[in-house]
Amino acid sequence: MDYLPFTRPTIDEETIQGVAEVLRSGWITSGPQVLALEQALSTYLGGRRVRALTSATGALEVALQACGIGPGDEVITPALSFTATPNVVMRVGAKPVFVDVDLDTRNVSLDQVASAITPNTKAIMPVHFAGLPVDMDRLYALAKQHGLRVIEDAAHAIGSSWRGKKIGSFGDIVSFSFHPNKNMTTIEGGALSLPGEAEADAVDLQRFHGIRKDADGDIDVVLPGGKYNLTDVAACVGIGQLRQLDAFNTKRRALAAHYFEHLQTDPPLLLPARGDDGHSWHMFVPLLPLTRLRINRKQFIQLMHGLGIGVGIHYPAMHLFSLYRKLGYKEGDFPNTERIGRETVTLPLFPGMAFADVERVCQAVSDIIVESRS
Ligand SMILES: *Cc1c(COP(=O)(O)O)cnc(C)c1O
Repeated sequence: MDYLPFTRPTIDEETIQGVAEVLRSGWITSGPQVLALEQALSTYLGGRRVRALTSATGALEVALQACGIGPGDEVITPALSFTATPNVVMRVGAKPVFVDVDLDTRNVSLDQVASAITPNTKAIMPVHFAGLPVDMDRLYALAKQHGLRVIEDAAHAIGSSWRGKKIGSFGDIVSFSFHPNKNMTTIEGGALSLPGEAEADAVDLQRFHGIRKDADGDIDVVLPGGKYNLTDVAACVGIGQLRQLDAFNTKRRALAAHYFEHLQTDPPLLLPARGDDGHSWHMFVPLLPLTRLRINRKQFIQLMHGLGIGVGIHYPAMHLFSLYRKLGYKEGDFPNTERIGRETVTLPLFPGMAFADVERVCQAVSDIIVESRS
């Protein structure tokens, strides 16, 4: 049987042809395709200002710089995310302040965010985990009450919506990732959805050498900016992906629903929160009932691999990595994140999958759990 990876991008022929045309055009770095992708994303996000960048990691870093966040500042962020989220806070010289997540939604606990606010807090960086939006009403009420910026790490959430409004179509700064594992890709790449002209101008400077051009085309350098501009080749891939994004996400939702219907094991897995139609199902992430099994997660993953099925881990608890232990974090600080970090597995979910693939995964999981229960 064919190997089923836990994710795989879907690139159509039209996109491949478009990329070939860009490559033959004589202009392959940032140009008309980047502008077209930014325009298309802006339209998709209800007219917001959008800037494309080389990755979401770069985008988050630039967003922090655009907010003037640096040494002495604190940024509150969940302990459950990809390490890019807190790393960029440290890269600008600020301090990531971790809080725990809810066990079912995997999203940041807003009660804990509220308790972690100090006079040094400048921003909240929530993650819409696996494409399930954080409670945006409560999040923005809290930010407003304390005068905080919000930088949404929406790496999982392009096409997600909150109460019918797309993530990135409202709010403060919103960052998307277009890494190949995400719901749409530019190979590597990301984008920022920005609330105003001041933020867009700051991002333009940080994205490209701090260069400002005046009306006559003369340039000045006003700050030591970085270099995070997307290429036209990558942007062309993104335009093709965005055209299919809603169809991709509809398929993801249907595949997730199929998992809920077919994934029954004894002892049971702890399934993720179902959310509503605003969930874009970037990943399907149940927790294994490890305390009732004779195998550990590594062995479970090896057994799945033996059956030709790829399994991911999203994510280990970040506060237990060496870098963050140095800030004083330790075991026991965030029980939900630590339990998720130990027990979570990411089962295959991508738009190119068939419903029969979901059933094959469910059968494999169920067989392994029955075989290894204690
Ligand atoms: C993928 C991801 C990022 C980083 O995205 P890149 O485009 O690879 O830099 C950041 N945060 C989260 C939650 C992610 O999943």
